[in-house]
Amino acid sequence: ERIVSGEADTGELSLEQSLRPQTLKQYIGQDKVKENLGIFIEAAKLRQETLDHVLLYGPPGLGKTTLAAIIANEMGVNIRTTAGPAIERPGDLAAILTALEPGDVLFIDEIHRLPRAIEEVLYPAMEDFCLDIVIGKGPSARAVRLDLPPFTLVGATTRAGSLSAPLRDRFGVLSRLEYYREEQLKEIVVRTAELFAIHIESAAATEIAKRSRGTPRIANRLLRRVRDYAQVRGDGAIDFLLAQEALELLQVDRLGLDHIDHKLLKGIIERFRGGPVGLDTIAASIGEESTTIEDVYEPFLLQIGFLQRTPRGRVVTDLVYRHFQMEVPGHDRH
Ligand code: ATP
Repeated sequence: ERIVSGEADTGELSLEQSLRPQTLKQYIGQDKVKENLGIFIEAAKLRQETLDHVLLYGPPGLGKTTLAAIIANEMGVNIRTTAGPAIERPGDLAAILTALEPGDVLFIDEIHRLPRAIEEVLYPAMEDFCLDIVIGKGPSARAVRLDLPPFTLVGATTRAGSLSAPLRDRFGVLSRLEYYREEQLKEIVVRTAELFAIHIESAAATEIAKRSRGTPRIANRLLRRVRDYAQVRGDGAIDFLLAQEALELLQVDRLGLDHIDHKLLKGIIERFRGGPVGLDTIAASIGEESTTIEDVYEPFLLQIGFLQRTPRGRVVTDLVYRHFQMEVPGHDRH
């Protein structure tokens, strides 16, 4: 598993649970999203209504699950959590929906992976709080309509584009989470260190923030690994030099890139003269799936301006040559 992956490691989830902020106020960053949600939540509470359905989208590890729990907490209701791939049959969804209390939040992670047949059950549930189900088989089969308690669906997805239009249109609130800035990640590192009772120097927290790829999950993970290093090689406290040494040993460079990013970027430079090169060609040359590159490796490299998408394929930018201390080629190279 990549240490700089935005996805949760096995065993990491219960640990993350204890780190989750509980209120919008404690949730660091994402100011626009927070401000909007704060207003919608307050208005719904004033009118004593349930909150409109919310779709949260953005790369893994940016805090979608955390935000869903905060929404429920701020609304003063319970949250039920499930995931797109876990709901296989319409009956699975019906069981979840009929067990909700009025006003509850139903959180569906990876909502873009809901089977189509389930989506269709979800439409009337979202719109009119009812379920149309067929009971019985053959000639005695009949359709019945079940009323549901009003609820708020919070959906999370890393790919808003792969959500079907009818499903997307049924969300009243669409919130896009952005990669976090260094100062915000630093705040997250400092907060987590406090919760773990770790002593960390300010410059060390900044160093971890810099290498966290804009992602709180990665920041917290790097902090835990640096803490291990501090306990074994030092006295447990994390100062700047120790953090740097630990991060070097973890092979996470000063921008948060690891050997896989290096392989990808150097591959494009060495084999394709910096591009443009098609995604499938890159994938074949480094032995990865195109979709993995597109969903997992590429977004952060695009975000920091190391890669560009052009109609003729991917191109590495001058920043990459500088990062690797390589000579920047002349601009007539394409
Ligand atoms: P995935 O969809 O892969 O589950 P996610 O976007 O739902 O990812 P979370 O599980 O909510 O991510 O967050 C990952 C970790 O980062 C959690 O431990 C959470 O405490 C921490 N975290 C996320 N966002 C924030 C934030 N804004 N402030 C403080 N901690 C945060």
